Amino acid sequence: MRHIVIVGAGQAGSLLALGLLAEGYRVTMVSERTAEQIGNGRVLSNQCVFEPALRHERALGLNHWDGQVPPVTGIAFDAGMPGSADPFISWVSPLDHPAQSVDQRLKMSFWLNEFVARGGELRIARATPEDLAGYAREADLVLVAAGRGPQFDSVFPRDDARSPYSEPQRGITLHLVTAPGDFYQGVTFGLVPGVGEFFVLPLLTAAGPKTGLYFSAIPGGPMDVFDGVTDAARHLELCQEQLRRFFPWSAGAAEDAKSDGPLDFLTGRITPVVRHGVGTLPTGQPVLAMGDTAITNDPIAGQGANNAVHCARIYQRLILEHGDRPFDAEFMRTCFDRYWDYARHSTRFNNDLLAPPPVHVLETLQAAQEFPEVAHRFAHLFNDPSDYEPWLGDPEVARAYLREVAERVA
Ligand SMILES: Cc1cc2nc3c(=O)[nH]c(=O)nc-3n(C[C@H](O)[C@H](O)[C@H](O)COP(=O)(O)OP(=O)(O)OC[C@H]3O[C@@H](n4cnc5c(N)ncnc54)[C@H](O)[C@@H]3O)c2cc1C
Repeated sequence: MRHIVIVGAGQAGSLLALGLLAEGYRVTMVSERTAEQIGNGRVLSNQCVFEPALRHERALGLNHWDGQVPPVTGIAFDAGMPGSADPFISWVSPLDHPAQSVDQRLKMSFWLNEFVARGGELRIARATPEDLAGYAREADLVLVAAGRGPQFDSVFPRDDARSPYSEPQRGITLHLVTAPGDFYQGVTFGLVPGVGEFFVLPLLTAAGPKTGLYFSAIPGGPMDVFDGVTDAARHLELCQEQLRRFFPWSAGAAEDAKSDGPLDFLTGRITPVVRHGVGTLPTGQPVLAMGDTAITNDPIAGQGANNAVHCARIYQRLILEHGDRPFDAEFMRTCFDRYWDYARHSTRFNNDLLAPPPVHVLETLQAAQEFPEVAHRFAHLFNDPSDYEPWLGDPEVARAYLREVAERVA
């Protein structure tokens, strides 16, 4: 029986581990935390997962929350100027199939228990780059799905050609709250040029439904005020203040909101980076990166957890197709190349959202107010970012499309 070691029990690692177990592989997962520690820990993400990724989770029978999770029914977009009472662009588009956000603390702790219950071998340890050679000696294939951050930099160096940013482009903060006011039961995406973005969405936690308030502040800008705030009540007050000041049209979502304490908020900064996904250990053994360890995006477009699912889906298919042949460096390069074929689209969409919106994108967002089909197409970029580059990646194509829609509708 082929033996696979996966370091990291997050969205990418756990999904691949459970998928391979179901196919009869021997799978060892190395997790720095137990299921209980993950479940009782700090909030990790907004984790909005869109339909194409949900389909893979469902195919593996891992959609345990389908009956309880509030459906994320669409995308509402608002853009306003700093200090304006109302947005100058505002539209809503339903998603063809709802997305979902299940608190990763709930999802990952459940999946980790499920992994053990289904016969997986779990080791609780914080793996180091030096440990990988030992895993590679005992297993046919070693994957590193240890999330973002520099800990495996020496194994998977940054790919400069694919990484346009060398610093964080946003200061991010997330607070899960209860008793929110009235807000759209989808993802509301607010944009204020020069300030940043605000997102609000419904999600399911172990304590029941909550609302995620997510701020994405331009570093050094007027909304970049959350660093160092450790008190939950003060953090929530700051969220409410920023909403009243920059997104007054969405302020009602948080006016009477309540915080459940210090584990329900986080603040940080993420440098988007694409790495070389195949690493060679000092011993010469190759290892393969997954999810955020391979490609880390800023959360602005909500693509990281979706990427992690697609990475697990693509790697699983290739591992199965590879049969009994050795999992050598060439095989790993094929895996990473196929993953990049998918993730280059979400990475481009994500990285472009971090830059000031070009005129043709603003024209498109404006036209979406008038033409539901434009709004629908933009909303579905979150589902399928491969439509981004051939459309909004080219100003001429984007403008020709708007002309074509306007003529057709006239
Ligand atoms: C505030 C915020 C909001 C977000 N919102 C969204 C969103 O709406 N939609 C979306 O798609 N994405 C979103 N993301 C991104 C998404 O959460 C990540 O991209 C996704 O979780 C990556 O999955 P992963 O499995 O690669 O890594 P992780 O989920 O980070 O999992 C890595 C796992 O490895 C473990 N680990 C780490 N180091 C070691 C080690 N040395 N040894 C053993 N175990 C280790 C960690 O404890 C963790 O369990 C958001 C992120 C943030 C921070």
